[in-house]
Amino acid sequence: MNLIKVKGIVIKEVTYKENDKIITLITDSLGKISCIARGAKKTNSPLLAGTQYLVYSDFVLYKSKNFYYVNSVESINTFYKLRVDFDKLDSIFQITRILNSVTDENQDTSDILKLFVNTIYIIDKTESKEKVKIIIATFKIKLFQFLGFTPRIDECVNCRKKLEEDVCYYDYVNNNFYCSNCLNEDKRRYIKLSKATVTAIKYVILSNVNKIFSFELKSPNDYILFGQVYCDSMTNGI
Ligand SMILES: [Zn+2]
Repeated sequence: MNLIKVKGIVIKEVTYKENDKIITLITDSLGKISCIARGAKKTNSPLLAGTQYLVYSDFVLYKSKNFYYVNSVESINTFYKLRVDFDKLDSIFQITRILNSVTDENQDTSDILKLFVNTIYIIDKTESKEKVKIIIATFKIKLFQFLGFTPRIDECVNCRKKLEEDVCYYDYVNNNFYCSNCLNEDKRRYIKLSKATVTAIKYVILSNVNKIFSFELKSPNDYILFGQVYCDSMTNGI
């Protein structure tokens, strides 16, 4: 039996048979995988703690008949406080659902794992509800960058004017940015973004995962809206 060591975080757990669980993990080396954790529902199981939703752990797995099984698990961070905060859990549930829909087995999810663990670590430490919304928007912008969907944000897609001095408009149908001179008739497909929002989006795109949450926004509403609309347009509202 070949043992496989991975770091991973549980993004979904479902009961299987009486005492077993099937967990979905985002891992550093196998992409998103499902694993059977035998006996993990028993209160004295050594797999109990590490196979719960949002627990980040070192896993030892083995593969049998094309399915992964958990051999042992050692928790790195259980995010215990977070798992009993229903407001925060609600936001995190939303992003784990997106993660589940955009990742797959054998995909390189090492950056996505780092992004997700950092995101929930920061949410765990944040008290303000508005800041949690900013964090979620930032997560979405970086996630779709890792998946290769970053729009060009340095210039208007039509006239090539630099998008630095003015408000600009995000076209959520075509995932492009426009200056105010180049909007077509149908304004309903755009959202208007302030200069500060555009600067923040650029900062997130250009920064390393460890730095993406270190910025302040005085009026974050259109940044939060951008994160939502951008993510919905990428996932068709999953
Ligand atoms: Zn233009």
